Amino acid sequence: MLTVNAYAAPNATAPLEPTTIVRRDVGPHDVLIDIAFAGICHSDIHTARGEWGPAKYPLVVGHEIAGVVAEVGSEVTKHRVGDRVGVGCMVNSCRECRYCLAGEEQFCVKGNIGTYGSKDVDGTITQGGYSTHVVVTEDFVVRIPDALELDVAAPLLCAGITTFSPLHHWNAGPGKKVAVVGLGGLGHMAVKIAHAMGAEVSVLSQSLKKQEDGLRLGADHYYATADDSTFEDLAGTFDLIINTVSAKIDVNAYLGLLAVGGAMVNVGAPPEALAVNAFALIGGRKSFAGSLIGGIRETQEMLDFCAEHGIGADVEVISVVQVNEAWERVLASDVRYRFVIDTATLG
Ligand code: NAP
Ligand code: ZN
Ligand code: ZN
Repeated sequence: MLTVNAYAAPNATAPLEPTTIVRRDVGPHDVLIDIAFAGICHSDIHTARGEWGPAKYPLVVGHEIAGVVAEVGSEVTKHRVGDRVGVGCMVNSCRECRYCLAGEEQFCVKGNIGTYGSKDVDGTITQGGYSTHVVVTEDFVVRIPDALELDVAAPLLCAGITTFSPLHHWNAGPGKKVAVVGLGGLGHMAVKIAHAMGAEVSVLSQSLKKQEDGLRLGADHYYATADDSTFEDLAGTFDLIINTVSAKIDVNAYLGLLAVGGAMVNVGAPPEALAVNAFALIGGRKSFAGSLIGGIRETQEMLDFCAEHGIGADVEVISVVQVNEAWERVLASDVRYRFVIDTATLG
C-alpha cells in the first residue's frame, strides 16, 4: 500500500486541510497514476459540504484527474508506464447490467462507484484527486491525447464529458440553436464544444460581465438573465438549452425560451427541487431532461474530439494551499473558468 499526500475536508463546514491517505496495492488490472493536475468541480463543494446528503469524513474530493501512469498491474493491456491518462467521476461499476454493457456505466443499476465518497469493491471508501497518486482499474482510465496539455485536459474529465454527452445526445450541430445557462466550469466547456459541433451558441449569464470571454470562447450571442427583456426577446428561440447552474433557477422562465419540440437539459445539480409547470411544457411539446456525466467510451470520444478541435479548458492553475480560497471564488461565480490544482504542490 502507498501512503500519499492529499487535501481533505474534515467535516461539512471546516476548510480543507493537508492529510495523508492510503492507496491500495496495484492489483493485476490496476494502474497507479502519478496525478499532475486535479480540477475543482462545483460538485466537489456540494459533496464535501453535505449539500447532497451526508458525506463520510475525512473526504478527499476531486474527479477531474490528469496524470501519468507510474505502474501497471501484471494483466493490464490498455495502459503503459509513462502514458498520459485521465480519470473522471467513476472508478468502477458492476460491468454486467444493461447500462454497463452498453457503455453507459454512469447509469449502472447497482450504482457506479464514484471517484470519491463511494464504497469501493473492497469495502473501503474511495478518495479523490486532490492527492498525489491514485490506483484505478484500467477500464476506468482514459487516454489523454498528446495534443492536450495535462492542466487544460483535467477539467475535460468532468466538465467536458458532462456537457459533451447531452450536446451529442440532443444533436447539437449545424442549424441548431443552443443556449448555455451559466458561464462557469461546465458552461464554458459547453460553449466551446457546442461551437465546435457547429451549433449557433448563446450564453445566458446572470450579467454581461463575462460577455467578451463568452464570445471569445465561441458563443455567437450573449445575454444577461437579470434583464427581464431577455426572456421576452428570446421567447421560442432555442432547440436546446443546457442548464449548468449550480443553484435553483426559475425553470419555467427558461422553458419559455425553447422552440416547439425543444429540450432543456439540466446538468446543474442544486440541492433544491426545481419546479416545472405542466403548461410550460405542453404548449410547445417541450422536454425537461437531465444528464449525468457520460460513459467511459464516450469520455474517450470527447477527449479525442477536443484534441481534434484544439479544445482545452480555460484554467487558473493554483497551488494546493489556495484551494479554500478557490472554493469561495467558485461559490461567488468568480471562476475563469476552472481552477486546477498543481498536485506537485502537495509535496
Ligand atoms: P460553476 O463553475 O460554479 O458554474 C456555475 C455557474 O452557474 C456560475 O458560474 C454562474 O454563471 C451560474 N450561477 C451560479 N449561481 C447562480 C445563481 N444563483 N443564479 C443563476 N446563475 C448562477 O459550477 P460547475 O462546476 O460548472 O458546476 C455546475 C453545476 O453542475 C453544479 O451544480 C455541479 O454539481 C453540477 N454538475 C453536474 C454534473 C452532471 O453529471 N450532471 C457534472 C458536473 C457538475 P454566470 O456567472 O455566468 O451566471
Ligand atoms: Zn464534476
Ligand atoms: Zn452496471
